[in-house]
Amino acid sequence: MQLSVAAGTDVGRIRAGNEDSLFADADQERGLFIVADGMGGHAAGEVASEMAVQIVSRDLTSLRNISGTIPPERMREALMAANRAIYERTLQEPDKQGMGTTASCLIVGQGRWVIGHIGDSRIYLLRNGTLRQLTTDHSYVQEQVDAGFLTPEQARYHPYSNVITRCVGANAAVVADVLSGELQDGDLYLLASDGLTGMLEDPQLKKILESRQTPGRMVDALITEANRRGGLDNITAIVVQVLAVQGTDRAGTTGEQAAARHA
Ligand code: CA
Repeated sequence: MQLSVAAGTDVGRIRAGNEDSLFADADQERGLFIVADGMGGHAAGEVASEMAVQIVSRDLTSLRNISGTIPPERMREALMAANRAIYERTLQEPDKQGMGTTASCLIVGQGRWVIGHIGDSRIYLLRNGTLRQLTTDHSYVQEQVDAGFLTPEQARYHPYSNVITRCVGANAAVVADVLSGELQDGDLYLLASDGLTGMLEDPQLKKILESRQTPGRMVDALITEANRRGGLDNITAIVVQVLAVQGTDRAGTTGEQAAARHA
């Protein structure tokens, strides 16, 4: 497998700190990518998103075979472990009370992808000119849209648009959405926090993802555009381009090394 990957995060133009965390690691066998968007006062959101990224990446790093029924189960367990650890910390440390985080995780390899998802960060797939949101937001406004009470347009500008209905660490237990599918040559995956997707609508995301630039340039363009439109929240984006599902080019992964771009 040959991937080209880039990741970036930015505080935006309004917030004092960055409560988003990200993880991106890829080699010839598999790629593992996580975006987490924390919440909670006294910088607790930062702690929650970091804990989620650390626990999920630690638990899944040894997962090398992405086919079969085991990877979705491992994904679910990793998110449950993160939930447990964050929730226990909210009980032990009063200043961490109420902290939590979203977590959107993508693992790719052996021609497959598996997603684990909680909250309103998003994972998109651009394939054959169509941009599709693979994850469903666990948010108040998404529930209203699903019930037919709001249009997607009304949801976007709704005063409760940032209220999420599922969160890692808020309760003793949480149910993750776990999805899987097939990888194809040319696939482009985007993982993003709502500081990006709240500022850019899907057609605007698509325009940048179709620009035939390197993933590094795309990440920079996404962050720049979100800031240009107001930068109201922390902005995080990971772009994963599948150059070849098969093939064992010696370089394996080309392009920017994501780790260097962590905030
Ligand atoms: Ca956010």
